[in-house]
Amino acid sequence: PSPADHTLRARGLRVTYDGFTALYGVDLDLFPGTITAVVGPNGAGKSTLFHCLAGTVRPDTGRIAFGEWDVTRLPAHARTRLGVARTFQQLAVFPTLTVAENVRIGAEQGRVVDPGAVERVSRLLGLDGAVRALPTAGLPTGTLRRVELARALAGSPRVLLLDEPAAGLDTGEVATLTRVLRALAADGMALLVVEHDLDLVAGLADTVHVMTAGRIVASGPADRVLEGLEGLDTTVEGQG
Ligand code: ADP
Ligand code: MG
Repeated sequence: PSPADHTLRARGLRVTYDGFTALYGVDLDLFPGTITAVVGPNGAGKSTLFHCLAGTVRPDTGRIAFGEWDVTRLPAHARTRLGVARTFQQLAVFPTLTVAENVRIGAEQGRVVDPGAVERVSRLLGLDGAVRALPTAGLPTGTLRRVELARALAGSPRVLLLDEPAAGLDTGEVATLTRVLRALAADGMALLVVEHDLDLVAGLADTVHVMTAGRIVASGPADRVLEGLEGLDTTVEGQG
């Protein structure tokens, strides 16, 4: 299949929580080989959009297609099987299992079980050394985040969804993360990063969408959109 077959397309996503409208008909495309960022203030609806794409929130109206498949009604685990993977902010690792076992479980839940892919992902994230045999309980946050990313990547997804991936990482870890995500996009993956840290987005994303109060209010190439936000930083930054 051509790369275009792996585009994730959302159209007209509308979500209400008990009468409060969190998304007012949002459109979003995630293209293979591209890193797309969604930025915006606290409460803008970024995480709600993320959950719609991942399959953990069902939109009231709107459609989501992944290539030829209409995935609107598919639960999260079925989307993961098709190749739409996500990471969890509350890290989803099993504490009593080793690093390698956690990564292998990710492969089993993914699109394909490919031992070669598991090896590549472990190497890419620096989890191929002695750390692979350690239980994840007690490992530092930065390492746990790499395990979490490796788990999501182990099943060879076509699309990777990340909600605030840099939260809790130091400068060096953010640089490593940026390099890894750029390498995945260069390899043809479609990535979504939902993020309030505009500096991270500036060094990472190809395309940026700005959300405010449940709507996308600006979209375009990262440099142009972020330039337009200069002086508005306090409006678009938040704690989560
Ligand atoms: P963001 O990630 O941009 O901070 P969210 O998508 O988390 O925004 O939230 C958007 C709006 O929807 C906020 O006003 C939030 O309070 C509300 N909201 C989010 N999740 C729920 C929920 N489960 N029940 C009720 N309201 C919610
Ligand atoms: Mg959020």
